[in-house]
Amino acid sequence: MARVAKVVTDIALDRAFDYEIPPELQPRLKAGHRVRVPFGRRETLGFVVDTADETDVPVLRPITEILGDEPLVPPPLMRLARWMSDYYMDPIERCLRAVLPEAVRREDFGPRIRLVARLVPGAPAPEKRLTAGQETALLALGAQGAIPVADARQRGVSPASLQSLAKMGLVAILPQEEGRDPFAGAEFAKSEPLVLNDEQRAALDVVREQMASAQPRPVLLQGVTGSGKTEVYLQAIGGCLGEGRGAIVLVPEIALTPQSVERFKSRFTAAGVGVAVLHSGLSAGERRDEWHRIRTGRARVVVGARSAVFAPVSPLGLLVVDEEHEPSYKQAEAPRYHARDVAIVRGHFEGACVLLGSATPSLESLHNAARGKYILARLKGRIDARDLPPVQVIDMRQEAARHRGPVALSDRLVRAIGERLERREQTILFLNRRGHSSALVCVKCGFVLQCPDCSIALTYHRRPEQMLCHLCGHSAPGPRACPECGDPRIRYAGTGTEKVEEAVARIFPAARVVRMDSDTMSRRRSYEETFAAFRAGRIDVLVGTQMIAKGLDFPNVTLVGVINADMALHLPDFRASERVFQLLTQVAGRAGRGDAPGAVFVQSFTPHHAAVQFAKGHDVDGFADQEMECRREFGYPPFGRAILVSFRGEEQRAVAAAAEEVGAALRARLPSGAVLGGPCPAPIPKIQRQHRFQVFIRGPSMKSLARTVRGAMVALRARRGVSVAIDVDPVFLL
Ligand code: ADP
Ligand code: ZN
Repeated sequence: MARVAKVVTDIALDRAFDYEIPPELQPRLKAGHRVRVPFGRRETLGFVVDTADETDVPVLRPITEILGDEPLVPPPLMRLARWMSDYYMDPIERCLRAVLPEAVRREDFGPRIRLVARLVPGAPAPEKRLTAGQETALLALGAQGAIPVADARQRGVSPASLQSLAKMGLVAILPQEEGRDPFAGAEFAKSEPLVLNDEQRAALDVVREQMASAQPRPVLLQGVTGSGKTEVYLQAIGGCLGEGRGAIVLVPEIALTPQSVERFKSRFTAAGVGVAVLHSGLSAGERRDEWHRIRTGRARVVVGARSAVFAPVSPLGLLVVDEEHEPSYKQAEAPRYHARDVAIVRGHFEGACVLLGSATPSLESLHNAARGKYILARLKGRIDARDLPPVQVIDMRQEAARHRGPVALSDRLVRAIGERLERREQTILFLNRRGHSSALVCVKCGFVLQCPDCSIALTYHRRPEQMLCHLCGHSAPGPRACPECGDPRIRYAGTGTEKVEEAVARIFPAARVVRMDSDTMSRRRSYEETFAAFRAGRIDVLVGTQMIAKGLDFPNVTLVGVINADMALHLPDFRASERVFQLLTQVAGRAGRGDAPGAVFVQSFTPHHAAVQFAKGHDVDGFADQEMECRREFGYPPFGRAILVSFRGEEQRAVAAAAEEVGAALRARLPSGAVLGGPCPAPIPKIQRQHRFQVFIRGPSMKSLARTVRGAMVALRARRGVSVAIDVDPVFLL
């Protein structure tokens, strides 16, 4: 039996300490258990990340107490954390921090208790007349059954009246263990499973068959927007619940809207199955309560963003990853895990089926389907059998020539918007850049105003007027003359959402135009309010960033304009074309979802680029085939694997030296078939005064790449002021 426990304490979260397991605790203690341990001169709580028989530490202090019978972290999740630590080359402590929400990790073990007021049945009639407040409280209790005292005020009941009613014996206030439900009080209409069409049925059969197998293979469900993927998820989950297992549905954070969540709630809540929703807007307490609701089985369906892949559902039957191609599934900070890939591994560990869904699957997943690792199921038609809208590409070079200078809106797009306004139909204009103009340029000397701390141009914002850095938030007043040569002819170049909004308002003064980007939508609520107004027809033209590109369904939108399709095409990222294609396809799917036919206009400076042309033809397979060939030729993922090692620090020289050292160590160990890129400055060489360098290594086998990187890192001398990050399967290359 293990003698030694490795414990991460709540005081020092970044490393594990060895403790002795007293003999009487040895039979009970498991990895994942919450424990009380001595720490310095006091005691603290911690949890066991691993056990061992031996240790190098000469004198061990014993664990004082085990809290709870069951480990706080279920054993399969401990195993997942260990896998992440190994695969993503990150300490287990940090991986556990990702697996276990902060609020859960830091609490005393056990569910949260709170005071709840209820009516006392058959209580004697009161002697005195009730006050108005007391009457309100009684009525509210009658209607709602029970009211948590802490929430009373929110529900229009004064806590003082509850207390006084309790004194009179009419109300009982008792401690109760309960999870908060962020959607509590909301009514959910019951929804019944729909009768599936043939394609949906075939897809569901594939998923069911895999769920029945002891070692299920992941299923890739490829289907255009509106083909009924979500209904397949819902029925697959239904089957899984029927077998007594739970399910997790991952969606991109931005798609976690009440509308999409409601579909899951209304299908399962009415049937008495708890649905937990995990999104970034939850308070620490809410997160903690949802976690316990899941851990104790009171919620068996979990809908959430990236980190919901760690929800403690057990036993787990199904993991759905919707929009599996979304880059936001990759965590940008350590541990740099990809939630889709973690889902695949978790499914494998727990014998759960993994269902990946997308209209435009990632090349990685298509490749895995092609080599039989995943099973491909397709939904080729839209449910309503409506055609996808025609896409017209507008050559902005010709447009600029005709207008003798760049314009934000082409003549054809302007005409199309005008027609929609006349017919009282709605328009969405999409542009992935906020602000007014992307740069301030001097036409005499070519000076571009840059952020002093980052190597990018400042963006001009008009309301309020300022030059703003989109990386660090630095702001400065816009100069009246060129700071370099003094010439007053400074120009604002490039187009942002503010300029588009302005142009529409100028050309169509009567149109109701609303802009939706992170400048105007700072709160979750304003986002929902704007969508509600748009849905209700109180907005004619909605201008916005990717916020408006996803998953929403507006029947009266008959025109979608993409202002600048090329913007991302020229980024130094091997996935640039794939991203642009996915985005265009996604945006194009927003038009024509109602009875009136839709149209899509794509403005482009490179109208013949493959990503634009295939998107024009809604040709997902054609694009994938061609892009696969490019990747194959250069050994890029999915044909090879990659690791990005990046370096940053305030002193450029030290950063460069560290990168050189690692680069040399990698080169010395380079496995056969592997290619080294760099060391070189990152595409954005400076962010927030931190200089950035990187080394990109790719090759046919992740095993040998990982071995090489590990070896090189051991050789690296620690340098003050330089931090090094390893990114396995990198997604963000800038
Ligand atoms: P996706 O997730 O692929 O975008 P959805 O599942 O949201 O597609 O389906 C699009 C619309 O079609 C939804 O309004 C949904 O209720 C409806 N729908 C889906 N499957 C069926 C079906 N078998 N019969 C009738 N309507 C369906
Ligand atoms: Zn900056």
